[in-house]
Amino acid sequence: MKMGGGRRRPNIMITGTPGTGKTTTAQLVAETTGLRHVNVGDVVREKRLYSERDEEYDALILDEDRVVDELEDALAEGGCVVDHHGCNFFPEDAFDAVVVLRTDNTILYERLETRGYAAHKVQENVQCEIMMVLVEEAMSSFPHERVLVLDSNTMDDLERNVGQIVSFVEQFQRSS
Ligand code: ADP
Repeated sequence: MKMGGGRRRPNIMITGTPGTGKTTTAQLVAETTGLRHVNVGDVVREKRLYSERDEEYDALILDEDRVVDELEDALAEGGCVVDHHGCNFFPEDAFDAVVVLRTDNTILYERLETRGYAAHKVQENVQCEIMMVLVEEAMSSFPHERVLVLDSNTMDDLERNVGQIVSFVEQFQRSS
């Protein structure tokens, strides 16, 4: 996979616990910059890139190698905003910036309840956020200087985060 310096447009990973605002943020970044929004969950469902279904958590267990193969050409070309609640199975040079969104427990709890998640699934995700699972995962999978941890509690946060990511994209494109 041709990566790193070869891209004219950057690839951005937006990760975080479910409910932190990945899809909302990624959509706004894509609309503003013209980058392509890649929602990994949607790709997995469309192309059936899962190996089994986790009945307890009502979730698909995705086949990570097939996901990377599926996205390889798009990532090599650049200009993707990838949105997923996990990032450790992508090649290190796939992304120019890795954004981890964070949400306060009580706010996240409410968002997941509103989404209709079962109680144990709400608990599991709030616990994941408390344990900073996605922050650790991003930090251990990518160089720290590429990782950006941003609060995503309010609409002001959302606006500020989108602005910061858009600035990064514009700066990358000017200097490439
Ligand atoms: P994810 O993709 O991480 O699961 P979503 O983008 O679907 O999260 O957002 C979950 C819910 O929270 C949506 O209803 C969305 O409108 C809302 N939301 C997302 N980010 C924020 C924010 N920064 N402030 C307030 N509400 C937000």
